[in-house]
Amino acid sequence: MPEHDALIAGLKARRMELVQDLEKIEDTLDDEPPKDWEDRAAERQGDEVLEAMGQHDLEELRRIDAALARHAAGEYGACVQCGEDIAPARLNAVPDTPFCVKCAAQSGA
Ligand SMILES: [Zn+2]
Repeated sequence: MPEHDALIAGLKARRMELVQDLEKIEDTLDDEPPKDWEDRAAERQGDEVLEAMGQHDLEELRRIDAALARHAAGEYGACVQCGEDIAPARLNAVPDTPFCVKCAAQSGA
């Protein structure tokens, strides 16, 4: 949907930032080349602050990936719970949200 182009572009830009961030954290924690973040995060017992940051980034990355997948499927902007259109103001504020205001309030997301 053309009206979502700016939001999708924003999500893609944010995604690149997060990936770079994760690589930086990975480099700081370990001089070896980055491999699979999740496996390594599970194994590592290193710097907890950096790991917490990494986990936070990873969660946001997952939400963005899911939003981009919905966009690819032509479903971006529709609530995954009830299928109704998500209000543009909400999408602008939280471009990676999968829920409309009503469902988000119900699920506490
Ligand atoms: Zn909904």
